Amino acid sequence: MTTLHEPVAADPTLETTGPLADARTQLREATTLLGYDEGLHRMLATPRREVTVSIPLRRDDGTTELFVGHRVQHNFSRGPAKGGLRYSPDVDLDEVRALAMWMTWKCALLDVPYGGAKGGIRIDPRGYSQAELERVTRRYTSEISPLIGPERDIPAPDIGTDERTMAWLMDTYSVQTGHTVLGVTTGKPISLGGSRGRATATSRGVVHVALAALRSRGIAPSGATAAVQGFGKVGRYAARFLAEAGTRVVAVSDQYGAVHSAGGLDVPALEAHMDATGSVVGFGGGDVVPPETVLEADVDLLVPAAVEGVLHAENAGRVRARVIVEGANGPTTPEADRILQQAGRLVVPDILANAGGVIVSYFEWVQANQAYWWSESEVEARLTERMLDAWDSVNAAATRLDVPLRTAATCLAVERVAQAHQQRGLYP
Ligand code: GLU
Repeated sequence: MTTLHEPVAADPTLETTGPLADARTQLREATTLLGYDEGLHRMLATPRREVTVSIPLRRDDGTTELFVGHRVQHNFSRGPAKGGLRYSPDVDLDEVRALAMWMTWKCALLDVPYGGAKGGIRIDPRGYSQAELERVTRRYTSEISPLIGPERDIPAPDIGTDERTMAWLMDTYSVQTGHTVLGVTTGKPISLGGSRGRATATSRGVVHVALAALRSRGIAPSGATAAVQGFGKVGRYAARFLAEAGTRVVAVSDQYGAVHSAGGLDVPALEAHMDATGSVVGFGGGDVVPPETVLEADVDLLVPAAVEGVLHAENAGRVRARVIVEGANGPTTPEADRILQQAGRLVVPDILANAGGVIVSYFEWVQANQAYWWSESEVEARLTERMLDAWDSVNAAATRLDVPLRTAATCLAVERVAQAHQQRGLYP
């Protein structure tokens, strides 16, 4: 029996809204099903370590601006912390805490030997030059450098960051350490110790489970219809691989607008338009539609691949897709989950569906630590095997426990983390 003393960092009351409340609601459901006591629940609900740093930027015009950044390390029970770094004007500490917790469950579910972490800077990267973003990244890295490292915490790209950001992060950490440390980050350029297949890994994984989920509902992927919300690092390649699998991608949106074509969008042409203009808006091969209609499109498959909380109590009842595969982290609130479940929709949860990215991040870290590089086909074969094995075990657990896929996936993951924690014991 654990006694709780104030202040309790992670009082899992449900009166707040937002990603952290959603993540804690999901955890509460799992720990209740697993029969864990309140002390263990609160330990799992609370980040192990968090740091907030201020980042002064000298702008190109000589003025100074100040940003706030965070790194939250949620759990280390199964290995070093792992998770992305987000640059967005919407970043706040509670969001980073939620994303860090989801990373812990994702790594445990896929049996990748990491805990979970997440970082973020509250900045809109579109408003800054490359030189300014480089200075922001280097200062942030310098501030958090005592906490990161190949054996401590390994950042990776997320919204608003990319392989260039990871190259600056790796270089800054290496210069401070005095030697090149390739394993401090993943999602690096291939010429700097990145892994083949990493850039498209999240989307490949999304499509592997999407095709399996469609088949599980008796829908043949070739000829099925799909809508993809978000056309960034995840949505873009998900749309490409879905089209390559014969699925008709009829609607796509990004933060600026959306396009629709009942006959199916020409995804390579849409990608070319995106490269030329920076948005799907203005693409000639489809009709302009309001972005929110993409989530409600009459399709077999919906892939939300942007941000948290887009499927909520107000719009979940209007979702018509039979299968929803979460390319984003946390796109469905617990209320929306209940509505979708009652309507008979199949929701494949984020910690399973978008785990391809961290799986290949793990492969990148293994390759960097061994200084031995794998072929693209080797990376992809191992990624496919892990994704489909996880799909099978989550389905089996959902059937055994008679719960939705998210509850089953969270239970499997939380149980692995709790088991590692209990086997290690409490220090002192
Ligand atoms: N940001 C990605 C995610 O949310 C990748 C994290 C990683 O590779 O460490 O899963």
